[in-house]
Amino acid sequence: MGVNKNDIQDKGAYYLVQGDMVFDKNKEYSSPTDSNLSKGVSSKASILKQRRTAFSVTINNINIFLNPGMNTNWLNASRSAIARWNAVNSNLNLTEVFSAASAHIQIMYDTQDPNQALAANVFGAALPPTLNGLPGTITWINPDFSFPIICGQAITQNNRIANVQHELGHNLGLHHTNAIGEPLIPNTPSTDPGSLMNGGQACTISDFSNNDERAIQFLFPIPIPVLTPSSMTLNTQQPGGLFTVTGTGPVTVTLSGGAGIFLHDGIGGSFLTTLNLTAPTTFSAYGPSIGSPGYNGGISYVTLSNPTSGIISSSTVYHSN
Ligand SMILES: [Zn+2]
Repeated sequence: MGVNKNDIQDKGAYYLVQGDMVFDKNKEYSSPTDSNLSKGVSSKASILKQRRTAFSVTINNINIFLNPGMNTNWLNASRSAIARWNAVNSNLNLTEVFSAASAHIQIMYDTQDPNQALAANVFGAALPPTLNGLPGTITWINPDFSFPIICGQAITQNNRIANVQHELGHNLGLHHTNAIGEPLIPNTPSTDPGSLMNGGQACTISDFSNNDERAIQFLFPIPIPVLTPSSMTLNTQQPGGLFTVTGTGPVTVTLSGGAGIFLHDGIGGSFLTTLNLTAPTTFSAYGPSIGSPGYNGGISYVTLSNPTSGIISSSTVYHSN
């Protein structure tokens, strides 16, 4: 896993890694395979860098069940943690549901799970995602964590919120920022002492850092918006049936030709009556020969349309052959 062996505790049915990540012994976890994520970053420079778990969550709408046996402080903290996740500008949408059966993740006390018993010095633990692309299924909270003894102060509601946020981070595919050897997330700096996802810092973590938010946006990117019609133009036909689509791409457009017209993306492949292109790009329109099916007196039309906005632009194609 790329962690120090001293960070792995054998708990019988599972391993506890770096204090709060639980790996079941009956599940397989692969080694990181995406070498692109660590290119050009030396291991020394990347000790404090946002990291992801071996498997990623591939869904965006995630249901969370809060075990109703938790007290009001923890229920409220869990709801605040969910709200902070939803406040990040990502494609992730966490929703509280009211049955365990309809949930992807359950937040509960370790004492509510007969298979879990966290040590007194462990604030929480979480399952990471597995091969199926779904989140890790449980965040455990330790209501008996001795915050005043271990952290030297009375627990605050923000301590609770931040630690639930952190454990949900493991469920959703974030590893410890200060871990060594786990897959790196691009566009995060070489150090981030303010990261909510630093391990072993239950007393002091507070909220997402800017780089935590960047990491979440990398894992759950917002889809590229489809451009509005006014920002796309279909240029006047050039010699040789050549058109140019301009616009600030990428945007996927669909082209449809008039009777008998054929379109070509200029790259290769078949001549078609519709093409999916990414702007800016150039395509060609070819008309039918005189007397061939579809010949309509030398005039055809090409339209540029957008799947959500309809026709953006149209142009007449004159051909004399
Ligand atoms: Zn952790």
